[in-house]
Amino acid sequence: MNDIKDVLGLQTNTDAEELVRQKKCIEAAKSIVDEKAGDMGRKLTYHVTTFGCQMNARDSEKLKGVLESAGFIYEDDELSADFVIYNTCTVRDNANQKLYGHLGSLGAVKKSRPDMIIALCGCLTQEKSAYEKIMRSYPFVDLVFGTHNLFDFPRLLVSVLTREVTKGKGHIVSEIWEGTDRIVEDIPVKRNYPFKSGVNIMFGCNNFCSYCIVPYVRGRERSRGSDDIIKEIEALAADGVVEVMLLGQNVNSYGKGLEGEISFPELLKRVEDIDGIKRIRFMTSHPKDLSDELIDVMASSDKICRHIHLPLQSGSTRILKAMNRHYTKEGYIDLAQKIRDRIPGIAVTTDIITGFPGETEEDVNDTIDVIEAVRFDGAFTFIYSKRTGTPAASMPDQVSEEKVKIFFDRVLAKVQEVSTRQAALIEGQTMDVLVEDMNRQDQMLVTGRLSNNLNVHFPGDASLIGKIVPVKLTECKGFYYLGDMI
Ligand code: SF4
Repeated sequence: MNDIKDVLGLQTNTDAEELVRQKKCIEAAKSIVDEKAGDMGRKLTYHVTTFGCQMNARDSEKLKGVLESAGFIYEDDELSADFVIYNTCTVRDNANQKLYGHLGSLGAVKKSRPDMIIALCGCLTQEKSAYEKIMRSYPFVDLVFGTHNLFDFPRLLVSVLTREVTKGKGHIVSEIWEGTDRIVEDIPVKRNYPFKSGVNIMFGCNNFCSYCIVPYVRGRERSRGSDDIIKEIEALAADGVVEVMLLGQNVNSYGKGLEGEISFPELLKRVEDIDGIKRIRFMTSHPKDLSDELIDVMASSDKICRHIHLPLQSGSTRILKAMNRHYTKEGYIDLAQKIRDRIPGIAVTTDIITGFPGETEEDVNDTIDVIEAVRFDGAFTFIYSKRTGTPAASMPDQVSEEKVKIFFDRVLAKVQEVSTRQAALIEGQTMDVLVEDMNRQDQMLVTGRLSNNLNVHFPGDASLIGKIVPVKLTECKGFYYLGDMI
């Protein structure tokens, strides 16, 4: 126990020292978990439930990596696991409500299994009012930490394993940081797929779109050093990964503020040079920062996928201004056209919000115009969700539920019409597909993805998973294809 106290108390000055400490914490956690497993006569189990975006999905792979290194094994059913962690999202209120629903079910289970450990991390925990609600209403939660100290999970795990867990009495281990300049590399990762992986290239966001809570809960923009990113991708390639997704809230501003660092297009070129990597994707691109250099690099690349996700949010210049997006309706259309002209066959997908404060029918008409003009290949459409603390939350003219529903239905119908038309354009062609999984409904089929991000289902078996194979696209089903391997 003295060793554990030493590890927990150790102060570190550099990211490298911190990594050493976290590794020691994982060893300490493992000895505790092994001892408990010996007493119980079985392995201890964990379950990670992930809400939200690709960044959270990647963070969850790190949580899984730490838990498996500490001796836990995966349990599919969250109600049966010994250690349950929710990696939360707070971008929209329904994500918060979903979490509270899960916690309600788990609280009932914990009454009969008081040694179950329940942990929460991610964006919701950084939001003051949500955090206070958890502390007040869910005293059976054992551990709460935020987005800035995820790298500290091994130490927090030791803390929660070495203390008397709450047993419903309300003694939560809780550490939420206001921010950090730390980027601790090489924390263990358990990938969801052996052949593809997300790679964080930056954290946080400086844009402060007026509806968005991300800059408040994920902090200011911090880019990882390009050498660290390249080293990670080389190791992934050596481990069988063929596709990487470079992740950041706004990848187009990668490298800003880091002395001597390269731009995002230059980073893409370095990734392109890595042997074994066959496909490169990235997410997300803010239209205001998308450079001609990026378009040129994409156009001349054999590896960068023919897909760009370019959040529009609104087609109305007036609403875009209120959203603090820094582009206009016409500017967005021109940019998308330039991308389509320079990169034939590229799919352009987007995010659209309806019901932003002050939105009128005319503004929705503008959004519909842009959907038609750009011919989106896909779009995530959302109803505006008021986030306390953001400028939009206190704007006048919040749109009534009734009106929002009408706006949303119009936008959704137009998106579906246009994207179905777009998808049909490649019917009959033969294209490369990265096979990702067995089809969930039909075990005679496998499911894969085209470079343009459309899914394709075709006859095949598990030996194809992770391979890139040519498939004839025989039947367009609107948002996906049926095909035959050639
Ligand atoms: S760019 Fe805007 S919408 Fe995207 S994370 Fe940053 S503030 Fe939010």
